[in-house]
Amino acid sequence: MKIYISADLEGITGISHWDEATLSKQEYEIFQEQMTREVTAACEGAIAAGATEIIVKDAHDTGRNLDPYQLPYPAQLIRGWSGHPYNMVQELNSSFSALILIGYHSRSGSGKNPLAHTLSEELNCILLNGQPIAEFHLVAMTAAYERVPVVFVSGDSGVCQAVKVYDTNIKTLTTNKGIGESVWAIHPEETIRQIQAGVESALQYLHQIQVKPLPENFKLEVEYKHPPDAYENSFYPGAKLQGEQSVLFETDDWFEVIRTLCFIV
Ligand SMILES: [Zn+2]
Repeated sequence: MKIYISADLEGITGISHWDEATLSKQEYEIFQEQMTREVTAACEGAIAAGATEIIVKDAHDTGRNLDPYQLPYPAQLIRGWSGHPYNMVQELNSSFSALILIGYHSRSGSGKNPLAHTLSEELNCILLNGQPIAEFHLVAMTAAYERVPVVFVSGDSGVCQAVKVYDTNIKTLTTNKGIGESVWAIHPEETIRQIQAGVESALQYLHQIQVKPLPENFKLEVEYKHPPDAYENSFYPGAKLQGEQSVLFETDDWFEVIRTLCFIV
């Protein structure tokens, strides 16, 4: 069994401020270490369920957050960014049995995490077929494009609620509840226990999971905080300026959605 794990930092237990998510800042180290512990727990859950190959993508900011020397064998780690439109799930393909997401977070415009955003802090929101989306939706739909099911997501309360709305079959673990600029977190050891047990159990029931089908058409709307960004990005082939702050792109191919996002965000 071959498992893919994608890890972000803004939904790691207890994180509450950008200084804690930024490589050059002093407070960052605490959360970087917890991110490594949470990913290690996911690897151990996968190994207990019979995983023989594990690929981990470090998918926050520089892509250089996880401590490569702490991850258990046989986990392999992708660090940095290739520029491929699969982005946070680079190198994912149909040979994987399941996708697991650790440390994911609420979308742009959400009040459920002080660090809420989708791809960039320069956006008000990204809408897909009229609904605001999180990074979770982008990776889950990319996985669906490759026929790989998402089986487990850990992160803040906002992303976990969004996961349940998207697909009730996906197991979730809420690490943090955002309240205004504050965060109320469960104990970090509890996160470790629940990720390990949750991933193991999700993979044991993998045969019952169906990949949620993709919509047939995609209407992508990117709303920028600054109108000049909308004007400039509206020149991407096939894109249209909508009002003063938003760019519209329509396609029936998921790959074109994520390719477009690479260039207009
Ligand atoms: Zn991040």
